Amino acid sequence: MKPSANHADDTRSGIGAGTPNSAAFSGNNVSSQYRGKGPRLMWRLFFYLAVFTAVILVILWLFQVVFLDSIYKLIKISDIRVCAERLTDLIASDNIEELESRSLELAHSRELCVLILRMTDKDTAIEVVSVDTQLGCVIHNTDKASKFTLYDSAVANGGSLTQRFRFDSRTRSYYSTSDGIMAETTDDRESIVYTLLAKDGAGQDYLVMLNSVITPVSATVRTLNTQLIIISGLLLALSLLMALIISRTISRPLERLNASARLLAGGAFDTRFSADGCREINELADTLNYAAVELGRVDDLRRELIANISHDLRTPLTMIEGYGEVMRDLPGENTPDNVQIIIDEAKRLTSLVNDILDISKLQSGNQELVLSQVNITAALSDMLGRYSRLISEGYTIRFDYDREVTLETDESRFIAVVYNLVNNAVTYTGADKLVAVTQTVSDNAVRISVTDTGEGIPPDKLENIWDRYYKVDKVHRRASVGTGLGLSIVKSTMDMLGGTYGVITSPGSGSTFWIELPYWG
Ligand code: ADP
Repeated sequence: MKPSANHADDTRSGIGAGTPNSAAFSGNNVSSQYRGKGPRLMWRLFFYLAVFTAVILVILWLFQVVFLDSIYKLIKISDIRVCAERLTDLIASDNIEELESRSLELAHSRELCVLILRMTDKDTAIEVVSVDTQLGCVIHNTDKASKFTLYDSAVANGGSLTQRFRFDSRTRSYYSTSDGIMAETTDDRESIVYTLLAKDGAGQDYLVMLNSVITPVSATVRTLNTQLIIISGLLLALSLLMALIISRTISRPLERLNASARLLAGGAFDTRFSADGCREINELADTLNYAAVELGRVDDLRRELIANISHDLRTPLTMIEGYGEVMRDLPGENTPDNVQIIIDEAKRLTSLVNDILDISKLQSGNQELVLSQVNITAALSDMLGRYSRLISEGYTIRFDYDREVTLETDESRFIAVVYNLVNNAVTYTGADKLVAVTQTVSDNAVRISVTDTGEGIPPDKLENIWDRYYKVDKVHRRASVGTGLGLSIVKSTMDMLGGTYGVITSPGSGSTFWIELPYWG
């Protein structure tokens, strides 16, 4: 970073400006640990959907096959009871005409047999409604006496009675199962007789009897089973189709991102990731785009650094070699001035190497602070005294301070920071070659400001100047201008010292770089 007035060959060597396929980012090194491993998204989705389908089918099978009989019976029985109650309501309201038509309608719509008797006295009854829709109906095929027995049983049972019968296909008749007489039947068909007592407006007793088969028709059961098989097939095919569609919508964008990521890994940092999937995939594309931009930036900086360093190394080396050869071949050139040039150039090399070492140490966190009580005012004036050679070249380096300040810090790190700022100021100051260093004490800090009268820094570049390897002017202004590491060293060191730093600049009228250390003097 040490400035000098030397002008040397400014051509770039081009080292490091080669193809982006350099070793650090080589796509050939991309790990293939997971490549081609794990099930395809489609099969995984299909598996989940198939499990889902299987659960639905089991539920359907339970309802349609296993519990069909009991559910059907429950529904049928409650249906019969509701119908009987509706009919008794009509009786109670003396609406006999409506009673007939409603009985007919219910009998056909609910597959019931209806028989309603008006009980005139103990042994006689008049048939009011009779609808016989079922073959072998229990209530229409019983004798008169049984009906009176049924009436008596209903009275004894509190006004209603439910009786179950089972069909015997050999005798083609129903046997009661309610009173324990279970016929040896070859048929599953079960029938129910629901008896309900009612009274009309005049208090006349009625016997309402409803009969219905409560076993599902075997054809219905077979239909349901066949349907279940067809539905199973359809649902499985549908799951496969859904898995295919969903996996396509998810995996296509992922495959595209993967292809772009491979290009990026291969060193194509201008690769951009297109986001046209769902939100998560879009966010991933955003992150990858950000990573690509950052990688590109780092790669640019890296190449620039190598170009700069090689240039900066070559310039002093060329000078040393040139002056050395001249002094060897021409004894008259062996002057103290020429020897001084060789020494200066060697110092520049040392300072460059030191900068690079410093920044790598700071970045790796290996730098230990050596703290002691330091009179920073004296240290600053001592350091600025070393610029006497520049003063002879027409530079003015002013140092103003309000009072002497002693605080606990790492002296060499602190001086290195100010040294970097002063070197920059010397490099960038205006034609008046003026650099002002000021030390001011405030309530809880001491501030050192380094002001130059140069061009200042454009506002859009301000944010980046503290970055490693960043240079506002990509082209070297003077052969001595540094590597873009100086301010990054300032930043990292101030963070370590627990201080703050910043810059006040206005384009055209110079910049003031400042650092502050905590101080309660
Ligand atoms: P360099 O070694 O190139 O000076 P620095 O990290 O010290 O690197 O500075 C980064 C960049 O900030 C410089 O390249 C320069 O563009 C800008 N800069 C630093 N100090 C000044 C200054 N006093 N005036 C104008 N620009 C400056």
